[in-house]
Amino acid sequence: MNLTPDPTPTTELFCSYVIPSYTRFPLVLERGAGSWVWDEAGKRYLDFGAGIAVCSVGHCHPRVTEAISRQAGKLVHTSNLYYTRPQGLLAQKLVELVGIAGKIFFCNSGAEANEGLYKLARKHGNETVGTLPEHTTGETAESLPRHKIITFTGSFHGRTLAGIAATGQEKVKKGFEPAVAGFEHVPFNDAPALLAAMDHETAAVLLEPVQGESGIHPVSAHFLRTVRSICDDFGALLMFDEIQCGLGRTGEWCGWRSIAPDVTPDAVSFAKGIAGGLPLGAIWARDREVTLKSGGTISLANLLGPGTHATTFGGTPLVCTAALEVLSIIEQEGLIENARAQGAYAKEAIEALASPLIAEARGLGLMLGFELVADFAARAGTGSRPPSLWMVDRLHEAGLLAIPAGTHAIRWLPPLNVTREEVSQAVEILGGVLKKAV
Ligand code: PLP
Repeated sequence: MNLTPDPTPTTELFCSYVIPSYTRFPLVLERGAGSWVWDEAGKRYLDFGAGIAVCSVGHCHPRVTEAISRQAGKLVHTSNLYYTRPQGLLAQKLVELVGIAGKIFFCNSGAEANEGLYKLARKHGNETVGTLPEHTTGETAESLPRHKIITFTGSFHGRTLAGIAATGQEKVKKGFEPAVAGFEHVPFNDAPALLAAMDHETAAVLLEPVQGESGIHPVSAHFLRTVRSICDDFGALLMFDEIQCGLGRTGEWCGWRSIAPDVTPDAVSFAKGIAGGLPLGAIWARDREVTLKSGGTISLANLLGPGTHATTFGGTPLVCTAALEVLSIIEQEGLIENARAQGAYAKEAIEALASPLIAEARGLGLMLGFELVADFAARAGTGSRPPSLWMVDRLHEAGLLAIPAGTHAIRWLPPLNVTREEVSQAVEILGGVLKKAV
């Protein structure tokens, strides 16, 4: 197709033709390489957002570009009516990285991966025999259907209807009532509150080992272990949303292993960093025997049987080939170790700025966040712009992309192959912006 150049500015095309559901920054990005992106005018930015934790081996890694090109010339899509080797190999790789026997279902995004978790929880709750703690009396646990999924305040699980019902933030739900039934939120890291919410209807507990969208809040190791034991008592599934924190970002293949490696989940969702920017989501379900109400037993990993769940694009040969290459690069280039080393260095360097405008720097590996002080708006004179957005505007002007979270937090989620020099450059830019803001 021969596209005639259109003189309309890109932002005006969006204004006229794109549904305005996103608040975008006024940057039109055109190309990327490694940890850098360039805008239409040729200005270069150090990309510490990486497409919101997606471009984990940087932009246009030559090996990923080559793998995508090769597979694009061979076979892009066939549907899940047939077998394709890249999907089988990627499933095997993910199970190996989780390190616990299980199976994988592929889909297209984080929200859709979580939909898979909700369906797994419902099927488990409806069709398998439950248990209740010994002290609980009443109806027999075996006969009760369990459908409730407990999530946590501050959580984010995606923008589908069930995703916003699962998400523990009111702002995503507004205007889309009635909410999908069966979700309940309790305060994060609060074991007594969780225990009080658990009952004979509880099918599962879902949590992000490190909450991302609410500004980088890790779960405590003690809480994670307590949740596992509460779930065991109630026969509920323990499910982790590793969409933002998984696949190397925290300095471990699985985010929860940076916190409490001894805890074993029943199901996990992945997306974002898995395929270098191509759309791919996945759920892992544990190979654990459960007892069917209809009689007999089945592995949890086989509970979503033929005809129960599907998606046309899930796990195409193209995206699976890209993902296999991304995961192999992370392994061969030592990027898990790099995430740990550069993350620790970045956190120390931010703290060493000793800025009176930063209240706290926190995070694990390269999932970093820093909180601006409560009176930042008054001190820096941000006007009506929330402090996090005002700061990100200034960082953009200075050549650094970062991601706001809420009104006062800023996230750094750079590629896992970011270099020490690039981290130093980012800290220098941040320091300069903070100095000017005081
Ligand atoms: N879960 C978590 C923890 C996320 O951070 C996100 C996205 O930010 C999602 C789910 C939703 O993923 P997606 O935007 O790919 O649907």
